Amino acid sequence: MLVNLKEIDKYEAVIGLEVHVQLSTKSKAFCYDSAQYGSKANNHISPVSLGLPGALPRANEAIVSYAVKLGLAIGSTINKYNFFDRKNYFYADLPKGYQITQDNEPICKGGTVKIRLANGHQKNIILNRIHIEEDAGKSIHDVDENYSLIDLNRAGVSLLEVVTEPMIATGEEAAAYLSELRKLVRYLNICDGNMEEGSMRCDANVSIRLKGDTALGNRCEVKNLNSIKNVQRAIEHEISRQIQLSEAGVYIHQNTLNFDALTGITSVLRSKEMANDYRYFPEPDLLPLHLSDEYIEAIKQTMPALPEALYQQFICQFGLPAYDALVLTADKEMAYYFLSLTALVSNYKAASNWVMGTIRSYLNENNIGFDKFPISAQQMALLINKVETGEINNNQAKDKVFVALLKHPTQNINELLKQLNVLIETSTSTIDGFIITAINKFPDKVKEYNTGKKGVLGLFMGEVMKISGGKIDPKSANKLLVQQLEKLK
Ligand code: ADP
Ligand code: MG
Repeated sequence: MLVNLKEIDKYEAVIGLEVHVQLSTKSKAFCYDSAQYGSKANNHISPVSLGLPGALPRANEAIVSYAVKLGLAIGSTINKYNFFDRKNYFYADLPKGYQITQDNEPICKGGTVKIRLANGHQKNIILNRIHIEEDAGKSIHDVDENYSLIDLNRAGVSLLEVVTEPMIATGEEAAAYLSELRKLVRYLNICDGNMEEGSMRCDANVSIRLKGDTALGNRCEVKNLNSIKNVQRAIEHEISRQIQLSEAGVYIHQNTLNFDALTGITSVLRSKEMANDYRYFPEPDLLPLHLSDEYIEAIKQTMPALPEALYQQFICQFGLPAYDALVLTADKEMAYYFLSLTALVSNYKAASNWVMGTIRSYLNENNIGFDKFPISAQQMALLINKVETGEINNNQAKDKVFVALLKHPTQNINELLKQLNVLIETSTSTIDGFIITAINKFPDKVKEYNTGKKGVLGLFMGEVMKISGGKIDPKSANKLLVQQLEKLK
């Protein structure tokens, strides 16, 4: 049993994350092979991917522009003079015997990612670097009992490695950082952000120290975590494991660890003392890249509105609660959909409720994304405005009109409302008729009302609603109901 973290509060944890972001470029980083995921094994393997003698790499322009985009989005300093390095090591899924990467001169230096925690606190996570590199192939050990299989489709696929400073304090902060980073790469359209498919892979470096100490403790690195939840679990487990060791007076060795998602436990993969010597040196087969100010400026011009800016806009310009702004900006398509609604409706909060509530539930239930939502913002805005002007009530709009629109997204709204017979009844005498019917149904409750029990109003309103088929405005009907009841006193 590991220690309960809450009992021992003299320690603090220090965490740094390294995230490999697989770029959604069509071809690989340094050759024309397709980078598509899920193809038949060993189908995208030109001489460059195979590392055949004499095959020469060539940089894919897209990886450079994608790296610059991410750097600009988080306020990094963009390195204008870039070259690549060879990181040498032997492994069966690395046919060249080295990986092309950037060592001392990454394309982006510094930058910050703002995170928000459940308790409302904000923190800026400072980045150390973002560099470009290529992926290795894939070794498959669990298909054949005698052999390991190698699939080189992934060899040479483009990656960005995004490295934070050691300044994350908890598993929750790490999870918030990852979901913010994932949001960013999705907004920028440079990576699909699917951790489960390996498009974002995270290594977590974890150490502990006594509160007040400034020197960093020895760190352990948990490798290849494949979901945000597992990153958080692995970190939390690792912190309590290290505290446990420290409390028992055991030295914490700098190890590389594996995390078992089933048991929630980390175990030693290899000790850092036996780490490779990668013998980095500049890649002689690739020319250095000089990025001009014009090039960087041109990329700046293509940058979409980013989640943090939209979050602020939704609160300041549209008066939404912070919670709404957070939910709406969590998904790029959802944020943009809401944004198009705001140009067409007057009640922004009502639009937000529709998007976060009814529309999102529909999409979740049907397991589709906002990009597949059939009703255009124009049509949705017409419907939202009909509620706003009091022509139909909200429940009818949700339960009947919205459902009908899903089936016939382009149908004329005015005709649809007539067809569905949901237009609000505005004639006072008709509504009074409904009310009198309801009152006559419950003479006992009228007596209760007369003795001062105002709670029975709800029952009468429900009944009036039912009789009207939901086609009345509850506020004005409520007034009329009170008038009628008072008359009977
Ligand atoms: P390496 O070259 O071994 O990958 P780096 O110095 O580049 O090491 O650091 C990798 C990651 O580990 C960074 O995110 C960094 O913030 C983090 N890190 C470094 N030292 C520590 C430490 N003592 N405790 C926690 N994280 C650390
Ligand atoms: Mg590392």
